[in-house]
Amino acid sequence: MYNKIAMIIAGLQKTTLIDYPGKIACVVFLAGCNFRCPWCYSAELVLPAKIVEQPRILEKDFFDFLIERKGKLEGVVICGGEPTINNDLRQFIEKIKNLGYFVKLDTNGSNPAILKDLVKTNLIDYVAMDIKGPAGVYEKIMTEGITIGKIKESVEFLKTGKLDFEFRTTVVDTVHSKKDFIEIAKWIGGLLGSPNVKYYLQNFRPEKTIDPEFEKVLPFKKEFLEDIAKEISPYFKLCQVR
Ligand code: SF4
Repeated sequence: MYNKIAMIIAGLQKTTLIDYPGKIACVVFLAGCNFRCPWCYSAELVLPAKIVEQPRILEKDFFDFLIERKGKLEGVVICGGEPTINNDLRQFIEKIKNLGYFVKLDTNGSNPAILKDLVKTNLIDYVAMDIKGPAGVYEKIMTEGITIGKIKESVEFLKTGKLDFEFRTTVVDTVHSKKDFIEIAKWIGGLLGSPNVKYYLQNFRPEKTIDPEFEKVLPFKKEFLEDIAKEISPYFKLCQVR
């Protein structure tokens, strides 16, 4: 299950007040991803040719940092790339939990088995799962061996409410239209409103994208995203533009 690549810590944001809801946290960036979203801003964490050029943080230095910040930081956000492709993710999180930190996992939802395992063993406390769009969008960005069925399995698992979670979408002109969000809302939310599903819309920023063509794509007007959020909010406990 955990047998894809060896872990590379490619970045550390030492403090964040916004990435872990309700907690003062740091963000650790793990290199490698099994998606190729052309609008992704993190090519240096996704494309192997760029990953090798990245400076790395030694695992010991990261844990020394966590030991030193005990009592000041409450949580650790594990982000990528896609963290669940790392073969030693479980042991990595165990060490973080042993220091008493809350753990938030940011994921694209492509590894439901790992997600379930981490939840079942109480190793993660919060999950933010990206929703890339309706099924048609996924078919274009996933690398070999990943199916939309796995994404759907992760969505259904999170909706069972075993831990606090959110779904979120980076909204990109040329990729998404308003009607896509009705489809997404029916899928990840529920017709009568889902009592535990929070959904956030994030505007695209045209900067250093994997496909340089996306650097020419303009963000949507904030009002457009707010309009979508208003229209689909009946499907959710909470739906907001971030
Ligand atoms: S946006 Fe996320 S899932 Fe997509 S390629 Fe970038 S890191 Fe991977």
